[in-house]
Amino acid sequence: MNFLQNKQGRNKVTGCCRIDGSHRLVPIMKTCIGGSEKAIERLIRNGGLFHFGMIAILDFVFWIGTIPRIVKKEGDIMGNAKQLNEISWKKFNELPLVKKGEYFLESPHHTLIAQQFSREQLENLCMLATKIRRISKRRSGANFLRTLLSDKRAMLYFAQPSSRTYLSFKSACETLGLNTIDVRDSKTSSEVKGESPEDTVRTFCSYADMIIMRHPTGGFAERVAWMLSNTNRPIPVLNAGSGADQHPTQALLDIYTLERSFEQDGGIDGKSVVFVGDLARGRTVRSLAWLLTLYNNVKVYFVAPEQLQINKDVLELLDAAGMEYEVTQDFVDVMPKADAIYMTRIQDEWDIDGESTTIDTSAFCINKEHLEILKKTAVIMHPLPRRKEISVDVDSDVRAIFWRQVRNGMWARAALILATFGREDEVNAYFAKNNLA
Ligand code: ASP
Repeated sequence: MNFLQNKQGRNKVTGCCRIDGSHRLVPIMKTCIGGSEKAIERLIRNGGLFHFGMIAILDFVFWIGTIPRIVKKEGDIMGNAKQLNEISWKKFNELPLVKKGEYFLESPHHTLIAQQFSREQLENLCMLATKIRRISKRRSGANFLRTLLSDKRAMLYFAQPSSRTYLSFKSACETLGLNTIDVRDSKTSSEVKGESPEDTVRTFCSYADMIIMRHPTGGFAERVAWMLSNTNRPIPVLNAGSGADQHPTQALLDIYTLERSFEQDGGIDGKSVVFVGDLARGRTVRSLAWLLTLYNNVKVYFVAPEQLQINKDVLELLDAAGMEYEVTQDFVDVMPKADAIYMTRIQDEWDIDGESTTIDTSAFCINKEHLEILKKTAVIMHPLPRRKEISVDVDSDVRAIFWRQVRNGMWARAALILATFGREDEVNAYFAKNNLA
């Protein structure tokens, strides 16, 4: 009999091969009347025609019984949309982030904010990403993956510049056989004819089963998810970066990268993570800092010039989560303490009047000399694109893992997309069947 772990970690029967036609009956009878499977099989075999008839009837009854489970599984995908359907936009929008996250806790229907993830979900997504990565190494595996979502289509709506995230999502979709359509510039949409952004997105959604969107307006992805959840086409929304506030899938791939980096060293628990650069306007930092609160005894350092230091709202969230952190300008002082250094660029697209050009950022860069004082096991990350905050001669150091981070993004996003459609069981079964562990 094959058992698979479902999302909640419970075993579920996925089928067994019995030539006597009692394949679905045996586990049921075992549960109902007890006794070993062999004894039950014997009973069935010795029962002649009468038992055969009984088997057929009970088999049919059991099959009917599985229907609610199948319906529930599809329902899981839409379950969150129903909840979002129960609250007005005004009320939802006013909720604190952690409360908003509660609307998406059970399954990733919409992925909008870092605060919606639980540690268990992150771990499951990381495991799924690894399975997809390993399966894809073989041609037969890559072909199998491409069948998984071949009945679905994703809309990539990127109303803000992007190369990595766009290509990462597109590659993730292709890995899973998910067809994509895209709009990469709102100037090419009917918004120029005066259409509201909401109507524009609603139009896109008519052609797709999922929308992956990047938008300059903070909270716009949430607005779209809420709006769609109140239509008869509540397709999942994945936030691929919104304003200066959230980048949940970057944070997911960062967690996946950290998990992989510390796989042999106790995982993320107990590690020190140093964020450096424009922390005031870096959405990747805002999302990742929150995800780190889900791990035990992680200490975070925020290193930035005063004007670009992490905002109070993030620190309040970390305080509420009981996370230990330090806010400092002394990068060299914290370097030796770091297990992971997360560099970021100056986000000057948010400048109003070129104000960041007057800030001296030279002390918030890492170069070859600094490598001497880093732990041997430390890792250097960057969501990219980089400017001068990491000098190019650091790239060849084994601790520089930002290019690996890019590739991890593709696997993490593939895992998220697959889980969003509730199709991860097929990957789990393939992985187990082909002994890829
Ligand atoms: N690529 C990341 C983002 O979209 C980081 C950056 O642009 O600096 O937020």
